Amino acid sequence: MARRSRRRAFALPEDCLFCTLYREGDHVHAGDGFVAIRDINPKAETHLLVIPERHVETFREVGDFPAEETKRMLEFVAESAHEVGLEDYRVVVNVGPGAGQTVFHLHWHVLGGVTRGLPE
Ligand code: AMP
Ligand code: ZN
Repeated sequence: MARRSRRRAFALPEDCLFCTLYREGDHVHAGDGFVAIRDINPKAETHLLVIPERHVETFREVGDFPAEETKRMLEFVAESAHEVGLEDYRVVVNVGPGAGQTVFHLHWHVLGGVTRGLPE
């Protein structure tokens, strides 16, 4: 059985791509329960994904985050953009398949520079 470094207060599905990338991905920014990675299929010159450690399927469940964690998540989005040198950028969340969501672990798209449509 895999050793856990600390106890979590929430379920951790083993078959979730972003739970896996949270643990093992190539992070451009990381810390305090959040990571930022580069999107594998970028829709902009710079296209990051901010992924919280906490697994909730969509933005609809954002209320599952403790208030302080929600604040830190938003700050982490801004820090990640700053980390890769973005001053002006878009922040997008696709909520549900009808809005283009394909990975059901809440994540924030950060799009900077020339952007080719909305991420899907
Ligand atoms: P969404 O369509 O909003 O659910 O966003 C999922 C995003 O994850 C898409 O923009 C994909 O290009 C991206 N993606 C899928 N697999 C990977 C991966 N292995 N590494 C980085 N990004 C990925
Ligand atoms: Zn997950």
